[in-house]
Amino acid sequence: MSEADPFTYDGGRVDPGETQNVRYTISETYMGDPVRMPVTIVNGDRPGPTMFLSAAAHGDELNGVEVVREVAHEWDHAGLEGTLVCLPVLNVPGFIAQQRYLPIYDRDLNRSFPGHESSTSARRMAYRIFNNFVEPCDIGLDFHTSTRGRTNMLHVRADMDDPEVSRLANSFASNVIIDSDGADGTLRREATERGIPTITVEMGEAHRFQRRLIDQALDGIASVLAEYAVHPTEPVNWPGWRTVVSAEQKTWIRADAGGLVDHHYESGELVEEGATICTISNPFKTDVVTVTAPFTGLLAGALENPVVYPGNPICHLVELDERTQRAYLRERSGTMPERPS
Ligand SMILES: [Zn+2]
Repeated sequence: MSEADPFTYDGGRVDPGETQNVRYTISETYMGDPVRMPVTIVNGDRPGPTMFLSAAAHGDELNGVEVVREVAHEWDHAGLEGTLVCLPVLNVPGFIAQQRYLPIYDRDLNRSFPGHESSTSARRMAYRIFNNFVEPCDIGLDFHTSTRGRTNMLHVRADMDDPEVSRLANSFASNVIIDSDGADGTLRREATERGIPTITVEMGEAHRFQRRLIDQALDGIASVLAEYAVHPTEPVNWPGWRTVVSAEQKTWIRADAGGLVDHHYESGELVEEGATICTISNPFKTDVVTVTAPFTGLLAGALENPVVYPGNPICHLVELDERTQRAYLRERSGTMPERPS
């Protein structure tokens, strides 16, 4: 086996067998002080793939922050074959303000990659992040949550036409993968286009830590590390059921009336065609509007803040074929299907 290489970035170097916590300057404040992004680099004793784990590209999406912190600081990395680049908070100004966008002109950091060294403030930040900590990697995982006021079940978004991205997405072992190439300027798309297969993991709500989802994501990471033999002792997980959903197989169900929403299902539940997903009512509880499922599907995401204008999204419904429905029901009833050989 060949020797492991040091990990180098602008101004620093992390040798094999070494872990470094860095506060890396990505911008400056109005006061002229540095805006510094926390980075932990865990370089294993032995050579192997380099993988980035990033969170809070949207500053109020916190579940992934805890996921990345636990991998960096609570996992035992003895025997690691490769390097982990842990970026728990990408959008530092947004995180400090606890808002989605960069406070500077409300720019979306996750539309600013790969960035540019002499463009807008957002693109300069994106450039410092991308150039130093994304570009040297072989694969990447970027953690998000639903937008404020909504929630979603844990799922992966990935460009499944790309075999390397598909391998990464499958190894994360989520039940649902939404197949899409992602918008221009997202970390996932721009990294993938530059030969660094990257997936997005969507999990839960903004502004909170949701332990069950965090544990689920940690299992997914362990499975990815096993697939790429970064942590060779871990087994690759196989979910009890899986569905890969194209853009045509998912629908945002929108409200046709304004009012207060009473949900009959939770995110992650199967809804039968024709079943009442929710009702919308006015303050007098009269003129109740019933919203029914147009097809049998999984409630992948839902409104948390229970008020709507006509046209507002209520929930995200993902179509499941009959085989997947049966596997879903078997898993819910506690009988796990066999792992395919
Ligand atoms: Zn996000």
